[in-house]
Amino acid sequence: MNKILHILETVKDPEIPVLSLVDLGVITDVVVDGDTVLVKMTPTFVGCPAMDYMKAEVETALQQHGYKPHVTISFEKPWSSDLISEKGKAALKKYGLAPPPDNKLFTDLEILETATCPRCNGTNTELKTPFGPTLCRALYYCHSCKEAFEQFKPV
Ligand SMILES: [Zn+2]
Repeated sequence: MNKILHILETVKDPEIPVLSLVDLGVITDVVVDGDTVLVKMTPTFVGCPAMDYMKAEVETALQQHGYKPHVTISFEKPWSSDLISEKGKAALKKYGLAPPPDNKLFTDLEILETATCPRCNGTNTELKTPFGPTLCRALYYCHSCKEAFEQFKPV
């Protein structure tokens, strides 16, 4: 089982190469039955085009280690940005992407207005566009650093 998780940790988010799918929290269930590995994944964002790619990457990684993967995409456990592990959030920040905030008491809009700059940890930031280079990220401007940064959108 740990071996499988180790293999899955080598599969990274195609858009954020420092973040593994395990740390992203999209792998919701793993069942090992002999050589067969059943993996359940939950889509991060509806319509996030990376999902098919991630599924194929998981299958390839398991096949390379001699397993017979059976990957299904399931909506049973909806993904939320809370599922990103602490390790994953640290990786995002190191990568220069503001990790999604923990506090879910705010509405999405309020969260989006109070993004924390990953460079200076300042909150004097301004939402430039809710849609960054990908659907999953929003673009901000930090008034302290005078630079733009992206935030992984909370969901
Ligand atoms: Zn800053």
